[in-house]
Amino acid sequence: MVVPEGDKGGGKDKKRDKHEEVKTCPECGSKCLVHDYGRAEIFCADCGLVIAENIVDPGPEWRAFDSEQMSKRARTGAPLTYRIHDKGLSTLTSWDSPAQGQYNLKKWEQRTHIANTAERSFVFALSEIERMASALKLPMNVREAASMLYRRAMKKHLIRGRSIEGITSAILYITCRQYGVPRTLEEVSGVSRVGQKEISRAYRFLLRELDIKVSPASPVDFVPRFCSMLGLGGDIEAKAIEIIKRASEKELTNGRGPIGIAAAAIYIAAILNGEHRTQKEVSDVTGVTEVTIRNRYKELSEQLDIEVLL
Ligand SMILES: [Zn+2]
Repeated sequence: MVVPEGDKGGGKDKKRDKHEEVKTCPECGSKCLVHDYGRAEIFCADCGLVIAENIVDPGPEWRAFDSEQMSKRARTGAPLTYRIHDKGLSTLTSWDSPAQGQYNLKKWEQRTHIANTAERSFVFALSEIERMASALKLPMNVREAASMLYRRAMKKHLIRGRSIEGITSAILYITCRQYGVPRTLEEVSGVSRVGQKEISRAYRFLLRELDIKVSPASPVDFVPRFCSMLGLGGDIEAKAIEIIKRASEKELTNGRGPIGIAAAAIYIAAILNGEHRTQKEVSDVTGVTEVTIRNRYKELSEQLDIEVLL
């Protein structure tokens, strides 16, 4: 669902990124950046963030990269369930109470039409936030914060000309981070009606336009959820967190995606506690490739002198 561009037309992408110098992902600090000339984008292989768009193709020999492969992402989503939210609708329909019998009917109809359109998209946005938040099992405070942020974006006319699905997904991604319950871009796109790249674009757009600063997610924040998804208990969770803390003291986490670090630490902790999970199992839950898990796990176990016996 796309809100038609209004006459106020605020919120256009103003800046073009200086991608030439970009060597690390501004989001997670990873150095694994993929130049996708097919789509004229640079994106992070660790967290999926689109870092630059409209990049220039240096020549046909570089074009071998298969963009299709990388962007295949199931656009799934549960059927629409409209939950009526009247909270906040009043802010949309804040027309002056017309003095009795004085108002112009035509004008009133026009306003009603606009209000209805805005109202419909607002209801749709809130229902999207609810639907995705519940699929992601997010606590109530995060849902509330997401609705608030959506309202803020709406007041600044940032929604016009953009897809509500993309904006609401990005908003959930932001609020999860702000509330210390980060979800990966992959997880958000898994419940969204739009793909990872669109969410990633909307995310960067909102951060810029609303001047929001989000600090990079800590690997530790991902550990409890990933562990419970893997059926691993509190002892392994604690062990994984300890590994991450030691790794960050030795600065082994610099330039590494937090999700990959969390995945590797959990992988190691599970083995140490005699509950082996395969790299495939850890990969399925975390969305981190097996190759990355293997690399991080080798780095961590070697650098921290952890003997991992398979
Ligand atoms: Zn990244």
